[in-house]
Amino acid sequence: MTNEHAKGNLNFDTIAQHGGHDVDESVRSRAVPIYQTTSYVFEDTDQAASLFKMQGNGYIYSRNANPTNNVFENRIAQLEGGVGAFAVSSGQAAIVVALLTLAKAGDEIVATNALYGGTFSLFSETFQRFGVTVHFVDGTDFEGIAGAINDKTKAIFTETIGNPSLEIADISRLSNLAHEHHLPLVVDSTFTTPYLQKPIEFGADIVVHSTTKFIGGHGSSIGGVIVDSGKFPWDNGKFPEFTESKASLDDQSFVRLAKENAFIAKARFTLGHDLGVTISPFNSWLFIQGLESLPLRMKQHVTNAQQIAEYLDGHEQVEWVNYPTLKGDPQYEMAQTYLPKGAGSIFTIGIKGGLESAKTFINSVKLLSHVANVGDSKTLVLHPATTSHARLSPDEQLAAGVTPEQIRLSIGLEDAADIKADIDQALRKS
Ligand SMILES: *Cc1c(COP(=O)(O)O)cnc(C)c1O
Repeated sequence: MTNEHAKGNLNFDTIAQHGGHDVDESVRSRAVPIYQTTSYVFEDTDQAASLFKMQGNGYIYSRNANPTNNVFENRIAQLEGGVGAFAVSSGQAAIVVALLTLAKAGDEIVATNALYGGTFSLFSETFQRFGVTVHFVDGTDFEGIAGAINDKTKAIFTETIGNPSLEIADISRLSNLAHEHHLPLVVDSTFTTPYLQKPIEFGADIVVHSTTKFIGGHGSSIGGVIVDSGKFPWDNGKFPEFTESKASLDDQSFVRLAKENAFIAKARFTLGHDLGVTISPFNSWLFIQGLESLPLRMKQHVTNAQQIAEYLDGHEQVEWVNYPTLKGDPQYEMAQTYLPKGAGSIFTIGIKGGLESAKTFINSVKLLSHVANVGDSKTLVLHPATTSHARLSPDEQLAAGVTPEQIRLSIGLEDAADIKADIDQALRKS
């Protein structure tokens, strides 16, 4: 259901303002309207019947599709260089829908191990209960990843920048490896957003986001989105559900009906419809606002983060700073390749005095907020080992790059001098 006019080859900042939106001829509203409706009046019984078979243009019910959600989906698809997108209720929902569109009970997924804590428990507990086994492998161990792939594997999953290890995924290598095994590479790009990296340009097939973070940008709404590159050959024999004719589709298949949009069509028509992981049009509207300021905000996030990281790197009370764009950082070269506009605004530090000092530091901040979130316009601080990654065993924590003394910072858009001053007074107390 794309309502796109070809607007030529527009640049990123322009797509962020206009992508996916055509001014509605009847009202001519400049801003994207919020279609706060559950359902749509059918033209007649024939049109209704064809919509239910995924044919023709039009909307049925907002659990499946909604015009405001569609603007958000088309805009982010354009920003990522994909062919289509499906917006859902959260980042977790985006990961569930993306991966279960590929894998069913009995199938397997290979994931890199430096992952968001919620993704780790989704994979290790809930997917396991659903009969989908996820193998976790060090994201830099390409032989290990290849070794974990077998006949049942349906996808490789990674994060652009691991949370909170900040491991930068070698997406070109991972996608080559996936494609050699006739598998899609699914990438969680929450920490980078399409402003800092477009994983599809490096070979990723499916991109997911928690739009809760930088895309919303103001810590106000939970949401997620799945973007499809449109490049994966679903008819390669490994994904029969994409090519089998279905009675509910008038004996057609997703590939036949939706062509290069088959993945999004299947995700929307099956899991989106059945699981009900719908995004509200109001949240989509907030994410559209977020996309419009994304380029400006990301620039400032990165500038502030670099300044604060450099300041802390030389601080006498700081043991170590992990931020890939610091000179001398082991990932500096990777960052130049994959993140030339900056490595985001999330980084970790270890302060002298270990766990106890870390706690005192967090309890002493005043301007910074101690919350379980990242990507807010406000600067946030968290102790991953006892919060976001508390469900992992000590060994799993180490494998995911979580250490006891580690503090995670998500640098916001305040004046950098004020962020520094608050960090400084908290460091003095710790
Ligand atoms: C927050 C986050 C998620 C989960 O997103 P929600 O919107 O909270 O469901 C997934 N991946 C990463 C990298 C995240 O930071």
